[in-house]
Amino acid sequence: MSEHITVGGVAVDTRHWIGGRRVASAATFTDVSPIDGAVLGEISRGGPAEVDAAVTAARAAFPGWAATSRAERAAVLNAVADGVEARLEELALVETLDNGALLRSHRRGVMPRVAHNFRFFAGWLLDLGREDFDTRGHTNHVTWDPAGPCALITPWNAPLMLATWKTAPALAAGNTVVLKPAEWSPLTASLLCDIAAAAGLPPGVLNVVQGYGAEAGTALVEHPGIRRISFTGSVPTARRIATTAAPNLTPLSLELGGKSPLLIFADADLDLAVDLAIEQYDNAGQVCLAATRLLVESTIEEEFTRRFLERAAALVQGDPRDEDTGIGPNIHPRQVEKIDGFVRRAVAAGARVLTGGGPNADLGGLYYRPTLLTGVAQDAEIVQEEVFGPVLTLQTFDTEDEAVDLANDTRFGLAATLATGSRERAERVSARLVAGTVWVNCFFVRDLQAPFGGSRESGVGREGGDWSFDFYCDIKNTVSAPNGWAPKGWNGHG
Ligand code: NAD
Repeated sequence: MSEHITVGGVAVDTRHWIGGRRVASAATFTDVSPIDGAVLGEISRGGPAEVDAAVTAARAAFPGWAATSRAERAAVLNAVADGVEARLEELALVETLDNGALLRSHRRGVMPRVAHNFRFFAGWLLDLGREDFDTRGHTNHVTWDPAGPCALITPWNAPLMLATWKTAPALAAGNTVVLKPAEWSPLTASLLCDIAAAAGLPPGVLNVVQGYGAEAGTALVEHPGIRRISFTGSVPTARRIATTAAPNLTPLSLELGGKSPLLIFADADLDLAVDLAIEQYDNAGQVCLAATRLLVESTIEEEFTRRFLERAAALVQGDPRDEDTGIGPNIHPRQVEKIDGFVRRAVAAGARVLTGGGPNADLGGLYYRPTLLTGVAQDAEIVQEEVFGPVLTLQTFDTEDEAVDLANDTRFGLAATLATGSRERAERVSARLVAGTVWVNCFFVRDLQAPFGGSRESGVGREGGDWSFDFYCDIKNTVSAPNGWAPKGWNGHG
């Protein structure tokens, strides 16, 4: 097996990164590009032994890293951000070849955001804290102590973006990390290790174990040396992780799937509403936050649908490296099979296909056509289950109450988007929506200081700004008696 592969002209190490060294496994898995099915390389396939080595390295590195000053840690994280920016083009191209998302969005949106993840949490760290406060003359002093080695497990739809959105705050807080990237998109995590080492991150502070969820993932989650688990992925996997982590009572942060609504009221700017709806095909629909349920006020259904279908027909599907491409491939044959299964069952249950409805015959394979289905019942599988592909449903409503009822009627609660020309309606409706994030007349505006997470089965906990540090730290309150010592004989309960 080759330990180095060249992907888009970029050298990528296929081994794990443990304790500041590259470590190979005898077993490997094959990484394939969704663009054309080309084999990118054989990647080390870790299991319990590699995970144990990584956790051991993370534990050994923890006291030293935890003892560094905030300013020192911030300086290293800013140097990592510099390294990401210096290699932005390479990271963007490798990510596109690995997961098939659009190169232009990796270049202009995602990779700058990866650098920002490090800069933001470095900056936030320097301001972290709250004023001491007084209890009958006693001083309360709250500190955010690093928790220890953190297990970070990420999906394939936004690999480096999600890996660094977890890694940056975990490291900023003074923790060490073992990252297990998704097996369908393992490459940019390996490049991150090179960048972090060049930026001066000490050995063992960041470790990456490649491999399958059932092997490397399970071993990591059940390891008693792990103090936090932050997972982004699907609900079924989250259930397995929660079960596996239960004996150790390891605290969990779970960012899971969704079936988010886009509510379009008759008073909305219809051009904006159509833009918002078309945006839901981004990343070939493989976006957890995607508002895949279009809920449209009956009086504008016809006009909305006409304009939407015009725009959908104009979407260029093809190679995600081309500047004109609006929608690329889905990640893997298994994912396409899953998407197509949902559509077929929906049609069998009575749904009408307004556009799309199958793979693109000209491109074949993994290029699923942007699809809109109507005539779907609220309790239908296609309305209730996350497809994670370019498949939207269209339903109508007559009243605001009905819109809210439809919007809230799934077991998810990740996000909701609404288009309306009325501020009062926006306030009324957003207050009633069950969602971690509500967007009004906009979509995907995400500030790292905002709380991010899902309600109901879309997640447990929130990350972002203080919420990230709350999760990745053991928070301690130290209460001191007046003048720093207690009067003789005082039992502390006075
Ligand atoms: P997945 O749950 O199949 O896998 C995610 C990760 O978990 C992978 O690294 C996988 O190897 C690992 N894994 C699998 N089984 C495991 C186990 N038993 N123990 C430990 N780790 C295990 O999800 P996916 O298909 O890679 O990603 C798509 C899902 O992610 C969708 O449901 C999507 O909505 C969700 N997602 C959520 C967010 C969010 O922020 N809420 C963001 C992106 C994606």
